[in-house]
Amino acid sequence: MHVHSHGANERTSQVLRVSLIVTAGYIGLLVVAGLRSHSLALLSEAGHNLSDFVALLLSLVAVYFHSRPPSATHTYGYHRAGVLAALLNAAALVGISFLIFYGAVRRIQHPQPVHAGMMMWVAAAGVIMNGAIAFMLYRTHRDVNIRSALLHEIGDTISTAAVIIGGWAILATGQLWIDAALSFGIGALILWSSFGIMRETLNILLEGTPRGMKLARVAAVIQEIDGVNDVHDLHVWSIGSETNALSCHISIADIPPSASERILREVKARLHTDFQIDHTTIQFEHAVCEVAHCCVIPVSDSESNNAVANLTRRK
Ligand SMILES: [Zn+2]
Ligand SMILES: [Zn+2]
Ligand SMILES: [Zn+2]
Ligand SMILES: [Zn+2]
Repeated sequence: MHVHSHGANERTSQVLRVSLIVTAGYIGLLVVAGLRSHSLALLSEAGHNLSDFVALLLSLVAVYFHSRPPSATHTYGYHRAGVLAALLNAAALVGISFLIFYGAVRRIQHPQPVHAGMMMWVAAAGVIMNGAIAFMLYRTHRDVNIRSALLHEIGDTISTAAVIIGGWAILATGQLWIDAALSFGIGALILWSSFGIMRETLNILLEGTPRGMKLARVAAVIQEIDGVNDVHDLHVWSIGSETNALSCHISIADIPPSASERILREVKARLHTDFQIDHTTIQFEHAVCEVAHCCVIPVSDSESNNAVANLTRRK
């Protein structure tokens, strides 16, 4: 049985839908105000919020796919549809940030007068909007996606506040390069967040060990369980951003299935509580195992010595 919490999905998608509508309105405001005030910082913010809009849309799609049951043709369900879409979005973000850098360099070469007052008003509206979305996200069920969305909104609130300060600085000093400098900052922020998304999504798509999980630690926890002689051919990967899977071989004594059932139950319980791994495929062995494929993880000398010590202690 697989344990998923789908109960909070309805509320989450409601918050995401409201955020989508508000963000779309704000993008329109940014484009109009950016063009009229000649502020590249506002246009950069429009690019940034457009990417946020796509990201929110993807989260909504991911929530939808997550609630779709597995089928005979997609036996794991559709968890990775959202992961793949997030990777594509991150790639688009890199493109947007380079467009902003290019625009900022041109602005420094050919400065244009900006309407700093309008900049400040529009940014103030942005601070209120980002703050409100952050507050709504804070109050929903928080999985990995929602938590990163919340962090992102908090970062956005701060960066939009920086635009207000920048507008004030332009008013006070008349230095036009401040607008281009703000654009560089916004571009760098977009680039940084897109690299984070890429690292995380690529790790899932390349079947990497889930972030923050140590394979040696997983092996050690299984080894600790009474009745387990050895664990090998151990694989841990993520199906989606919330679902971890594991497969392994476990050597046990020559005991009947009615007795080995207890070992299996304990292994599954430990994997669930210690590592949130709910999808397990465990193969019990007694005779010597011939691993047909070459995927046995090289264990460092000290660790294999420990394993040997464990084995001898049990016998
Ligand atoms: Zn953002
Ligand atoms: Zn294998
Ligand atoms: Zn399963
Ligand atoms: Zn084996």
